[in-house]
Amino acid sequence: MSLFRAIRIDKTETGTKASYVDFERADLMDGDVTVRVSHSTVNYKDGLAVTGKSPVVRRFPMIPGIDFAGVVETSTHADYKPGDSVILNGWGVGETHLGGYAQVARVPGDWLVPLPAGLSAAQAMAIGTAGYTAMLCLLALERHGIKPSDGPALVTGAAGGVGSVAVALLKQAGWRVMASTGRPEEEAYLKGLGADEIIPRQELSAPGRPLGKERWAVAIDSVGSHTLANALAQTKGEGAVAACGLAQGMDLPATVAPFILRGVALLGVNSVTCAKALRMKAWQRLARDLDQQKLVAMTTHAPFERVVETAADILAGKVRGRVVVDIPG
Ligand code: NDP
Repeated sequence: MSLFRAIRIDKTETGTKASYVDFERADLMDGDVTVRVSHSTVNYKDGLAVTGKSPVVRRFPMIPGIDFAGVVETSTHADYKPGDSVILNGWGVGETHLGGYAQVARVPGDWLVPLPAGLSAAQAMAIGTAGYTAMLCLLALERHGIKPSDGPALVTGAAGGVGSVAVALLKQAGWRVMASTGRPEEEAYLKGLGADEIIPRQELSAPGRPLGKERWAVAIDSVGSHTLANALAQTKGEGAVAACGLAQGMDLPATVAPFILRGVALLGVNSVTCAKALRMKAWQRLARDLDQQKLVAMTTHAPFERVVETAADILAGKVRGRVVVDIPG
């Protein structure tokens, strides 16, 4: 087919506009692998891109969708041949390179990862960039050498995408999990994923003291701002916080006290441009360790036609866990 269905973001006089269109295959960007996309997802960054609330889209027109899974149609890349199942997240796809909310995507093969054995395309996208990032956070904490016997693990933004997968992964890895959420009605959901204790969001999201009582050995934070500052201030000596997000804000109103008085480490996590070896390791570990029943519990499906509404919902904090987008065949 020379035309395929896609969501396209165009620049307008007042901002940006997302529309459902027939897109010309000839207008795809350069890449040595063309993929028939079966699934994509709605991550927080997709919410920013589709609504135009933050300038994450850097090229117009743009097909948003920062991740996708599908089957290779054509390839001149040595690692991929037609029929191979692949996944992609990051690399500016959906921001500077045409992305996953489309029936067809063309990308450099170096950006792809083979679908790991044991995961379907739909399961891989239920994990998506958010779940992959949760695994990168866990790997960063493990590289730092901290173990479940050192104390509990805090997860902020726990009912969100990164947070839900982080709760399940930390529990599976043997941690006692403290889940911070602004949605008390999700207590049963979070306990089902593995949370041992629920912490109300406002305990961490308001301005706090430079140092507080030592409550956890590690934290996975997708929230930023005062929440990250408080997570650091209440981390045990020689503990570590993996920071990957900014749902509360991009600022970090903290002091150096946790670093210089307790030896706490702040580990930054960027999922967009990881080396292939780390990407493969993270995806293989997700395929091995993430409980599939918990993945089902945290996943909803959105038809392609509802992506624009769902993008607004995720920014409004109305989405629980992960959303898979089923791309029409
Ligand atoms: P979600 O919207 O699914 O989750 C974010 C969660 O944060 C919400 O569910 C909510 O959790 C909490 N939250 C929202 N607003 C606030 C607020 N004002 N104050 C405190 N908590 C808040 O998004 P994702 O999980 O997809 O992404 C989370 C963050 O991680 C985003 O900032 C995203 O950009 C970032 N990210 C970064 C990546 C990287 O490479 N570094 C990769 C992937 C994501 P609850 O309802 O439980 O309180």
